[in-house]
Amino acid sequence: MTNASTQIERILQRDVRAVARAISAIENESPVASELLKGLFAHTGQGLVIGLTGAPGAGKSSLVDKLALQYRAQEKSVGIVAVDPSSPFSGGALLGDRIRMQALTTDPQVFIRSMATRGNLGGLARATVDAVAVLEAAGYDRTLVETVGVGQDEVDIVKTADVCVVVLVPGMGDSIQAIKAGIMEIGDIFVINKAERDGVEQTERELIGLLEMTMRPDGWQPLIVRTVATENRGIADLVAAIEKYGEFVRHGESSQSRRSAVAENRILEILRERLLRRALQSVSASQLKDFAALVATRQRDPYSIVEEIISASSPTSMMHAASDSPRKINHLGVAVSTIDDALRFWRDGLGLELHEIEVVEDQGVRTAMLPLGESRIELLEATGDETPVGKFLAKRGPGIHHVCIEVADITAKLMQLKEQGIRLIDEQPRRGAGGMLVAFVHPASTGGVLVELVESSKPEI
Ligand code: ZN
Repeated sequence: MTNASTQIERILQRDVRAVARAISAIENESPVASELLKGLFAHTGQGLVIGLTGAPGAGKSSLVDKLALQYRAQEKSVGIVAVDPSSPFSGGALLGDRIRMQALTTDPQVFIRSMATRGNLGGLARATVDAVAVLEAAGYDRTLVETVGVGQDEVDIVKTADVCVVVLVPGMGDSIQAIKAGIMEIGDIFVINKAERDGVEQTERELIGLLEMTMRPDGWQPLIVRTVATENRGIADLVAAIEKYGEFVRHGESSQSRRSAVAENRILEILRERLLRRALQSVSASQLKDFAALVATRQRDPYSIVEEIISASSPTSMMHAASDSPRKINHLGVAVSTIDDALRFWRDGLGLELHEIEVVEDQGVRTAMLPLGESRIELLEATGDETPVGKFLAKRGPGIHHVCIEVADITAKLMQLKEQGIRLIDEQPRRGAGGMLVAFVHPASTGGVLVELVESSKPEI
């Protein structure tokens, strides 16, 4: 069994340490995380996920604690994920801003975890959804996702829950107006916490007024529940409301279309993050800063920069950057009037060994190979005036004719060069001297030098 499948087994048996490790892997964007999530996905969707959001100070944390206790009284196991997009801290031990009730932290049927922002890709919503998936697969009956504020991140996170609970407090009439964008639409249940306070009637009236203006496509009438979490009042009503909407979500007429919409969002979210991550592999942070400076001063436009980044991160470009960087100069081709004359210097004078003389008929050339370290000097003599070397000699006289560079996969390299708009003489490789696969790149694209590519898969003599 692979490491991932062992871990999956342990998570399915609700091994708390395996669950915690999986969530850390998700936060750290470790490659094992996606293996785990692939294996766990089929086991998700059994429990009920409840997202709670609302302005800071609305008493969400104590509400979550009391909800968890209520569920425990019903013998249901509970996972709690506390999400703080503004905090750089995460992990169960770093929940410094609040102390959970001891009755929860010591209960083996309760798993508590906090999550915070990591990186700058806006992946917190996705990471939270993935962490919740791990808890669901581990068989927690109810998972409570608590967010700190009511920003866009929080809305995105809570939106993915089965049940969205929006927590308000009396006397925040103006605040209801302020937060209603985005929040009013996602609330399946509205809680007026701290309901012992003055103004609870007015807050409820305002809430009803706002809800009447919002038509939900699924026909659900959001429920309003009053609670005093610190005194444990209204918690049973809230659980009843949550369970009622849970039934509606899972078995109601629109449940299938809602699930599909959530799934579609999730696919797009993962796709967005993966594509962004892949694109950013081809550009360093300092390059990005350089680009930004060029755009800021109007020396470059952001559109062509993005196109550049995208093409540099295309699968073929990435593949070649990684595995097909040329390793050496295979040989230098020198056009000579006659090989015999040239050998007086290269062989007799310099002392190179003449390896072989070969006639490549279809190129109209006679070649002499003289090994030189890892490379060779290739002397080229035309077999006629109308041959490529013959024309070269007529136009430019004897001299360096071409540079030959070894590549691992000549067909792929030619495809990549063509894609990049490089002018090729040979779009397909052909047999050159020694039966090697070769192809020529036009000097117009190389800075004036004819470049020969040769596939290095065959061992050199
Ligand atoms: Zn050559």
